[in-house]
Amino acid sequence: MGLPQRRWSGPLNVTADLHIHTALSPCGSLEMSPRAVAASARSIGLDMIAVTDHNSMANVEATVEAGRREGVVVIPGMEVQTAEGVHVLCYFPDCDVARSCYEGIYPHLPDIANNADFFGDQVVVDIDDNVIGFEPRVLLNSLDLSIDELVAGVRAIGGEVIPAHVECNGFGLLPHLGLVPPNLDLSVLEIAWPHSREDVIRDYPDLAGFSLVSHSDAHYLRDIGRAAMRMEMAERSFSALFKAYREGCGRIVYRHREDS
Ligand SMILES: [Zn+2]
Ligand SMILES: [Zn+2]
Repeated sequence: MGLPQRRWSGPLNVTADLHIHTALSPCGSLEMSPRAVAASARSIGLDMIAVTDHNSMANVEATVEAGRREGVVVIPGMEVQTAEGVHVLCYFPDCDVARSCYEGIYPHLPDIANNADFFGDQVVVDIDDNVIGFEPRVLLNSLDLSIDELVAGVRAIGGEVIPAHVECNGFGLLPHLGLVPPNLDLSVLEIAWPHSREDVIRDYPDLAGFSLVSHSDAHYLRDIGRAAMRMEMAERSFSALFKAYREGCGRIVYRHREDS
């Protein structure tokens, strides 16, 4: 009889980029198909990614499947634009939960037709790079849902929220609201590549008490992973990742420089 099989149970080193757009986002390049995004993530050594298109998750399922084939964990997500004009990254434990959020917020998206010549096409793509549809409403628009309503709704179905690029004039929480609303009970905030933690805290000293993370906000394949989080985790899962984020275990890694 052979020795019993033992599995490595120590911590895993994980590199994660949780803010990536696909061709569905009007500003996302058409090269950003689910298959190409997953393959690029694997080729540069990312272990976990999230697809976060503006106000939609129509390309999430295909990217989750593409990630499965490539050995990359893909967290279902969306980058939602609240009534205040603030971008909030929303993450979900699985595609069904993501879809239920999407179906809940879609009626709150203004029914304004996308002008493809101006904004670009909003393309729904399957796992084999086939175009299977176009989102008719312009996605880069504010919902008629407040940030309070959004955060409460996402948490009620088991999702996680991280305000995106909080220090940026374009859609960042701090320039719009002036502070991190204490009633939202936020502990993790995203800062934008290539800003350092120290630079942002110098401008907004109150952020010193938050877990600050950074991601690529990639709209082109070449930008995937230009900002990522590196940390040790027990497993590559949704719950382990957000536990590590909340505990501030991650280290921001930029492609051109590293911040500890
Ligand atoms: Zn944004
Ligand atoms: Zn974005």
